[in-house]
Amino acid sequence: MSDLKGKVAIVTGGSRGIGRAIAKVLALSGCSVVITYKSSVQQAQEVVDEISKFDSKAMAIQADSARFEDAQRVVDEVLKNFGKIDILINNAGITRDNLLLRMSESDWDDVIETNLKGVFNFTKAVIKHMISQRYGKIINIASVVGLIGNPGQANYAASKAGIIGFTKALAKEVASRNIQVNVVAPGYVETEMTEKLNEEQKKRLFEMIPAKRIAKPEEIAYVVKFLASSESDYITGQVIVVDGGLTA
Ligand code: NAP
Repeated sequence: MSDLKGKVAIVTGGSRGIGRAIAKVLALSGCSVVITYKSSVQQAQEVVDEISKFDSKAMAIQADSARFEDAQRVVDEVLKNFGKIDILINNAGITRDNLLLRMSESDWDDVIETNLKGVFNFTKAVIKHMISQRYGKIINIASVVGLIGNPGQANYAASKAGIIGFTKALAKEVASRNIQVNVVAPGYVETEMTEKLNEEQKKRLFEMIPAKRIAKPEEIAYVVKFLASSESDYITGQVIVVDGGLTA
């Protein structure tokens, strides 16, 4: 079913990995999609070219999620070009892993500013518009690490747990305005972020995951599509875990 026809979505960090899969799945459902990226100009252009083949409108805008003025510029540009914003997917994220003992202040700041403040930046920039149009779907990509922690990822876990608190608070603020705010919390997903794992780490991981494999990016994107559609209008402030049973 494609009830996303005529809708306009922003996907932050849409040039690679999960964001790229989300952009494509939304576009295949008839949605116009604007992706942002930090530095992968060529990959962002590939996503736009691919989406244009699906007969959906697409656009890529360079914007650092950690900077509020970049988020505001993206929102202004999308409103100028498309006239409205129905869906915001806060997906851009980074890792700077280290045990706390060795974690630098900049490892902490970079992760919090991109992952957590980035969600504030884009949501703050778009919320006034969504309130006045009395329609909006905001989907924040967190991680199971924000629920259960992971050694070496205190900064990342804090950013993702922060996203969950932010989502629940905002969901309650805007529920009466017909805006739903939810989190998708993936387990491990096949992207450049997990490519860094060596064979031994992967083997140990598979032993822990009941499904005995990591997710394909599309398996996260389909859940995002459901939360972006009117089929999920009564779901708000929730965390949907997609992890092959890891945290069951
Ligand atoms: P990825 O393959 O490394 O891609 C990250 C995307 O975010 C890229 O498009 C990148 O843009 C963009 N990005 C990074 N920093 C940015 C910034 N400051 N401003 C704007 N865009 C920025 O990562 P991924 O695995 O797809 O992860 C996507 C989201 O899912 C993240 O929030 C991550 O924490 C979450 N997640 C991932 C996994 C996993 O196993 N992969 C599991 C749970 C949650 P450039 O291409 O320009 O760098």
